[in-house]
Amino acid sequence: MAADPKSPSLAELRQQLDQTDDDIVRLLARRLQSIRLIAKAKAEQGSMIRDPERERDVLTRVEGLATSLGVSGPLARKIFSDLIDYSVSRQVGSLVDADRGDVTVAYQGQPLTYNQLAAEQYVAGRGLRGRFVGLSTLTQVIEQLSSGQVDLAFVPIENTVAGSVNQIYDVLRERDLHIVGEDSFKVELCLAAVADVPLPALRRIYSHPLALDQCSAFIDGLPQVQATPFADSRDAVRTVAEAKDPTLAAIGSPEAVRAHGLTILRGAVGNQDEILMRYVALARAPVPIDERVSCKTSLIFSTRHEKGALLRCLQVLADHGLSMTKLESRPRPNRPWEYMFFIDFEGNVVEPRVATALETLRAEALYLKVLGCYPAKATPQIAQAGEIKPAAEPAVAPAAAPPAKPAARASKHYKLADRATRSADTIVRVGDLLIGGEGFVVIAGPCSVESAEMITKTAQHVRGAGAHILRGGVFKPRTGPYAFQGLGLEGLDMLVAAGKAAGMPIVTEVMSPEQVRPVADKADMLQIGARNMQNFALLNAVGKVDRPVLLKRGMSSTVEEWLAAAEYILAQGNGQVVLCERGIRTFESATRNTLDLSAVVVLRERTHLPIIVDPSHGTGRRPYVAPMAWASRACGAHGIIVEVHPDPDKALSDGDQSLDYAGFVGLMQGLGRVRA
Ligand code: PEP
Ligand code: MN
Repeated sequence: MAADPKSPSLAELRQQLDQTDDDIVRLLARRLQSIRLIAKAKAEQGSMIRDPERERDVLTRVEGLATSLGVSGPLARKIFSDLIDYSVSRQVGSLVDADRGDVTVAYQGQPLTYNQLAAEQYVAGRGLRGRFVGLSTLTQVIEQLSSGQVDLAFVPIENTVAGSVNQIYDVLRERDLHIVGEDSFKVELCLAAVADVPLPALRRIYSHPLALDQCSAFIDGLPQVQATPFADSRDAVRTVAEAKDPTLAAIGSPEAVRAHGLTILRGAVGNQDEILMRYVALARAPVPIDERVSCKTSLIFSTRHEKGALLRCLQVLADHGLSMTKLESRPRPNRPWEYMFFIDFEGNVVEPRVATALETLRAEALYLKVLGCYPAKATPQIAQAGEIKPAAEPAVAPAAAPPAKPAARASKHYKLADRATRSADTIVRVGDLLIGGEGFVVIAGPCSVESAEMITKTAQHVRGAGAHILRGGVFKPRTGPYAFQGLGLEGLDMLVAAGKAAGMPIVTEVMSPEQVRPVADKADMLQIGARNMQNFALLNAVGKVDRPVLLKRGMSSTVEEWLAAAEYILAQGNGQVVLCERGIRTFESATRNTLDLSAVVVLRERTHLPIIVDPSHGTGRRPYVAPMAWASRACGAHGIIVEVHPDPDKALSDGDQSLDYAGFVGLMQGLGRVRA
């Protein structure tokens, strides 16, 4: 049939359409220009970025207009939800990223994988220009960020089908990295092959393990098919394309599938119609966020060994009017059947109510770390469901709950350590032993680990005599540089093995911030020596790890300074501090130090933290050790730490004050007769 000469040709129609599309893009640019001006006006007025009522009105208006013009209302709603979402991101970006144009972003995978597409969406949404670095493992991504090679790591943290990505939670727990942003990304899982083959003809399906997990129901429906995990969905797609074998299929992003010229056999093969991935952007330093931006704050904490401890922590958020958006528990490393909790709540750390909530929580929890405070991203459900999620916070923040009446404080240097903050005794768990409260704990072992054999033998012996925890120095703070400095990490392995063989947790000293992480990975408790009591970098470092700390008193420190030092650790979020009186310098020379047992009674009054005594360093003389150990128990200490050596006269350090095995048995027998 000949075309009607009066009606426009297909080419002309297409040209017209192209014209219209260009107009749409130009209008989008105009819309963006208005958005910039609005952001500026909001900044001048100090009003909140999000205005849910206004957003709802816009959607209702455009949906109505679309319907009246014969355009699908839901389509208009969906498009405008996306536009609003983007506008909000840009306004947030203008407040948050104002001074950052280009960013280098590391992600795990290759171009056109979900991770890369999501990273691109995040960076573009913030109005930034990104350079993307795809790496093969998440570990490499984190390494590049930590070492400063990239500005951001963009990593998946949870998925609406497969749940949390545990590795990221472990990274957040262990590393000093901060969440500075989040985004959610709609994952489109499509099954593709080299030709349009019927599904029963397939024999293997390749994809990333997470993607295979998310499609388990679909794959289970194809009994002849074997699912094969690939490091990367892009690799899976490429392998299928190169093999040219019609019995192979891959699950990947539509973008990747198209790039390799595969045929889509089935779209949306995921277990749920819509799979959303939540991503977080990690940086080396936190980025303060303007109060007008709706924020989320993420935390990790562990609870005290008390009944109702978790409930009390959650209550703190409720009391301050903070709404929790996520609660997740993860096993605590090296603590079987103990858990850490991850929480996200709506709020900005610069708000006073959030600051007071965190302060209260720090006192209530045993360990607390703020993982980040970042703009809450409108979730894509807005676009999908055609609904507006209520604002993260109302335009006018509700009045903060009145903070608990501050108790009279003895010092301006410490409050978390103050008995006035917490009347109940803090109980610190080391291995499966509790320090504080009722029991009396005995820590024993050599001053220094000298060999695998001596530490193993000593461990067996002190354990047999009734000691609970094994001590042994591997990094030794010696007065002179020519004295034995300890066996270092090699010695630590010997201590670990000896502790394990004897069934005892171990404590050892750390002398510098760099030693904290490697030692915390292996030891049950970290000791801060007397010489380092005011090494503030070291105190901050042990404050960041989830390990109990034995804080020795500085040899010329007052009780006040000692508690202020403990406060450094508590303020970083680590509440597991045990104080140790080990003698102070006085004019008296009959003993190495003057053991200040009065400090025990003073501390029991001033702080809720457990307190133990070191009669070895406290006296410096073997015959004096046992009597002062007994006195420690009598005056109300929660335990002692004692140096024991198989042959004290040949010890490489502190032989004069070390007990031999028989001496330690005598000490333990006497201890049994003393009561506080
Ligand atoms: C030690 O415990 O071996 C030690 C060096 O202790 P202090 O820091 O109390 O001197
Ligand atoms: Mn010593």
